[in-house]
Amino acid sequence: MKRNRKSKILSTIGPATSNKKSIKNLFISGADIFRLNFSHGTVEDHRKNYEYIREVEKELKRPICIIADLQGPKLRISTFKSKNLKLEDGNTFILDLKNELGSEKRVYFPHSEVYESLTPNSHILINDGKIKLQVTKQNKNSIETEVINGGIISDNKGVNIPDIELPLSSITTKDKMDLQKALDMGVDWIALSFVQTKDDILELRKIVNKKAMIMAKIEKPTALKNLESILKVSDGVMIARGDLGVELSPEKIPSIQKNIIRKAREAGKPVVVATQMLESMINNQTPTRAESSDVATAIYDGADTVMLSAETAIGKYPIESVSIMDRIIESVENDDPNYLDEIQMQNRHDKSSTDAIIAAADTISRNSQAVVIVTFSVSGGTTLRMARERCPVKVVAISPSIHTARKLCIVWGIHSCVGDDAQNTREMVDNACKIVKDEELGNIGDSIVITAGVPFGNAGTTNLLRIAKII
Ligand code: PGA
Ligand code: MN
Repeated sequence: MKRNRKSKILSTIGPATSNKKSIKNLFISGADIFRLNFSHGTVEDHRKNYEYIREVEKELKRPICIIADLQGPKLRISTFKSKNLKLEDGNTFILDLKNELGSEKRVYFPHSEVYESLTPNSHILINDGKIKLQVTKQNKNSIETEVINGGIISDNKGVNIPDIELPLSSITTKDKMDLQKALDMGVDWIALSFVQTKDDILELRKIVNKKAMIMAKIEKPTALKNLESILKVSDGVMIARGDLGVELSPEKIPSIQKNIIRKAREAGKPVVVATQMLESMINNQTPTRAESSDVATAIYDGADTVMLSAETAIGKYPIESVSIMDRIIESVENDDPNYLDEIQMQNRHDKSSTDAIIAAADTISRNSQAVVIVTFSVSGGTTLRMARERCPVKVVAISPSIHTARKLCIVWGIHSCVGDDAQNTREMVDNACKIVKDEELGNIGDSIVITAGVPFGNAGTTNLLRIAKII
C-alpha cells in the first residue's frame, strides 16, 4: 500500500478508536503513525492498542510506527466541595498544600516543589489558560494570588506556569513506570512532554538505552529558549501547540512553528506539528476552511508529520479526519507546482562520503527520469540524511531491521520497507528493483537511483551510488 504524498499523518488512539477495526480503517485512510497517549487511559488500554496495531501491520504488510507519549510534569489543582465554582476578577485566590476540598477562596495544589520558585507577579494559568492568576504573596505552604481573568473552576484542571523555569525533572514517577511498560511493548518512539532543558532528554536517553527514538515535545517557553541544545540530543521534535499556545500567546504560534521547523530541518531531524489541526471535526463531518489552511501551512512550512489528537482519540469522525487530512496534504504536494521550492533548505553539506553520495543522488533524481531513490540502510542514518534534501521523488528505505523500518515511517518522503541486505551489488540491484515493483512505486523500464554501503551489512558507511533500470 502506498500513499500519494510525502508528508506523514500521526493519529492519536483513544476511546473513539480503541479497537482493531478502527485502527485498520485509520491506517487505510492515511494514518502512518499512531500515538499512545499516556496522559489518558490505562497501561492495559495502551497494550491492547499496541497489539491491534501490530496485527494490522502484519495483515497489511506495511511497517507501522508507534509513539508512546509520556505525560511529563503536568501540574494539576485538586478537587472542590461543589461543582462549577466561579472565580471573580479582582478577588484573592489561594493555592496551598492542605489536602482538603477547595472553595472559591482556595484549592489544594499538591506540587510542593514549585512553591518556592514562584515570585510576586508570576502568572498561574488554569484550565488551558482560561483562568489567569497573578501571584501577590508567596509563602512556603501557600501562594496568594489575585484573579486577573476569572471564570468557572472545577476538579483536577491543568495548571501552566509559563514565566519561570520549574525545578522539576520532566520525567515523573508515573512516567518512569509508563516508560518501562512502553519499552517492554516495543514502541518505536518515546515522546516526552514539558521538556525544559537538554538534561531532561539525556536523563530519558539513559533509561531508554537505544530501545526507541526520542522526541522532545516543545511546549514551554524554556524549551524554546533551549531549542538548539534540546534538538542536538533529541531524535525529533514535536511542536505541541496546545500547551505552547497556553504558555505563550496564540499569536506567537505561527512564527514559532516556522522557526522550529526550520531548525529541525537544518539538523535533519523529523518535526511534527500537533494539536487542533482539525479541531472542529471532533463534532463535525467537515473541517473549517481555516483548519484546512492550517494543515496546508504546516506542509508548506516543511513539516515531516502532522498530528491529530482529540479528532481521532475522542471525536465523532476519526476516519473522516484522517481522510480529509490525507486529501489536503495530497492537494498541496501534487497541485502546487512551487510546493517543493518553498521547503528547500540551504545546502550546507558537510564533507563525509555519505553527504557526497546523498548530494549526488539528489542531483540525479532532479535531472534524470528516476522514479525513486532507494537507500539501503541498517540504522536508518543515511535515509534520514537523504530525507533532509526533500527530493522530488520518494525515498524507498530498505532495512533488514523492522525496528529501523518502523521508526522511519515518521520521516518526510520515506517509504519504509524491510528487505534482506544484499551480498553483492548485483543482488542489491535485484532486491531494490523487486521491492520498487512490488510496492507499485515503479514499472519495468523505469530508472531508479540506489545508495548503499560496501561492505554490505555494516551500519554507518554509505559509499556506493548506482543508477539502475527496472527489468
Ligand atoms: P498533549 O501534547 O496533547 O499531550 O498535551 C500536545 C500539545 O500540548 O499540543
Ligand atoms: Mn501538551
